Amino acid sequence: MPGKMSRKLKKNWGILGEKMEQINYVVLGLPGSGKGTQAALLAKETGLVHISTGDEFRKIREEDSDIGRRVRELIDAGNLGTDEVANAIFLRVIKNPEVEKGAVFDGYPRRVTQAEFFKEYREVTKCIFIDVSEEECAKRMGARRVCSECNANYNTIYIKPKEEGVCDKCGGELKVRDDSTPEAIQKRFEVYHKETEPTVDYYEEKGLLLRVNGEQPIDDVFEELKKGLE
Ligand SMILES: [Zn+2]
Repeated sequence: MPGKMSRKLKKNWGILGEKMEQINYVVLGLPGSGKGTQAALLAKETGLVHISTGDEFRKIREEDSDIGRRVRELIDAGNLGTDEVANAIFLRVIKNPEVEKGAVFDGYPRRVTQAEFFKEYREVTKCIFIDVSEEECAKRMGARRVCSECNANYNTIYIKPKEEGVCDKCGGELKVRDDSTPEAIQKRFEVYHKETEPTVDYYEEKGLLLRVNGEQPIDDVFEELKKGLE
């Protein structure tokens, strides 16, 4: 559904191959806010690449490369939330030719120090904040289930298995994901308040923040987001 906005953006990029204006969106929100879903929709709408730092991280972790080894070292040391890895992933991602015209960044920068690093290489066009209350995020994340046999994902609100607690695909037992136990959720919220909330304030002070109400159906959230960018 190429809407009004994508035509407008394409015009900004220049149709005759002149120097294209780069567009960099940063999407922020609490874990469970649905920011990944909105980032993916925005990338599809604009034709920009969706960069999920979590996905990049999982890819790099398996690699036989300097950065892959360094990431594994940090995992073994139980030390993952460092700027070193996040910044290194960012630097590598922006070398990709298809990221030349811009990207939708999801999961980076998530700290003020990372935002400062980002700024040395890229201008942020807009930071989109998906606003959802902690209670709602906790409810959504608490509903996540994963199959203990085949790792298929479920959700007791949106993607219910046919039989409660049993995997549709393999009959395995469904359990709460490790990152979605009440303790893990609280911990992720704490990290968010300490590190990511100041990043939201950082972009707000620069006049770059677009706040979107994330407590609506997915399509309505995206409509509000698109309107905000026009
Ligand atoms: Zn299964």
